[in-house]
Amino acid sequence: MSEPYRTETALGTACTITLYEYGRAGIYNEVFSRIREIENLMSVNIPASDISRVNLYAGKSYIQVHEDTFKVIDRAIFYACLTYGAFDPTVGPLINLWGIGKGNARIPPRGEIEQVLPLINWSNIVLDFNTNSVFLKQEGMSLDFGGIAKGYAADAAVEVLKKAGINRALINLGGDIFVLGEKPDRSSWRIGIQHPFEERNVTIGYVQLQKDKALVTSGIYERFFEKDEIRYHHIFNPANGYPTNNDFLSVIVIADTAMDADAISTAVFVLGYEKGIELLRVIQNAEAIFVFNDHSIRTTSGVNFTLTDNTFTFKN
Ligand code: ADP
Ligand code: MG
Repeated sequence: MSEPYRTETALGTACTITLYEYGRAGIYNEVFSRIREIENLMSVNIPASDISRVNLYAGKSYIQVHEDTFKVIDRAIFYACLTYGAFDPTVGPLINLWGIGKGNARIPPRGEIEQVLPLINWSNIVLDFNTNSVFLKQEGMSLDFGGIAKGYAADAAVEVLKKAGINRALINLGGDIFVLGEKPDRSSWRIGIQHPFEERNVTIGYVQLQKDKALVTSGIYERFFEKDEIRYHHIFNPANGYPTNNDFLSVIVIADTAMDADAISTAVFVLGYEKGIELLRVIQNAEAIFVFNDHSIRTTSGVNFTLTDNTFTFKN
């Protein structure tokens, strides 16, 4: 019996793997158990995860972590360094303070924000490459992989599929997408771009991808709360401790790996359009679509984007 796709909840989101005619229960089981393995290592909501343990021992001692966790920390630090801390995996104290996406969201008093700001500093992460150990120098520091772990999990899912001999699949971990291989007729994959304010799967256009590419979105609509008609979303500016405010509704990044696309989309979202474009120029092999709050859309030169919603305007 073929099972063309399967959806399960993992990493706090709906994850769908589509294997088309290759869909077999055994393969889906293998992919989802790999995704859960990564969740168990990197979730801040799981007390025994590597990340929770590293956070618990902040300011106290090195903690040895799984190779997967170590790879993600290493890459997160790479992007933190490249973006002068616009992307910073030590945003944990801010995420906790604001409580966004956790049901107890609130606007913290400025004093509380200022108190945690010194703890947001990726250069206080120390790695021991001999033992895969991690140390957070200051007590109260905490890692948060919300901006990168889903991407790593998508890449890991791709690895499982490749090992199983699958040469065509669509991986979608809550909007972190990877297209593996080519369509049977060699036509391009069409990936819908989510409308920022409509229900799931209402799109404003689509991107055509040939093969083996990741497409990841950072948006103000993913997790947020509203107070006095102001929207507070979940992507923070580590420089001031507030949700970033720079005219974006969403930023979509296309890259060769989902981990890179995930980190870059979060980073560009924080950096804003001008600095974001500069970052993309430095990185190469990454393209982006920018959706602005005046409903205009821009893309970098290598994106094959088709707009289908005429309440938006394409400005390239
Ligand atoms: P999503 O989780 O909706 O896919 P992102 O990939 O943009 O979106 O990640 C947002 C998450 O990243 C936040 O929920 C938080 O866990 C974390 N985060 C927020 N601000 C930053 C930042 N400046 N640098 C790194 N991670 C961040
Ligand atoms: Mg991200």
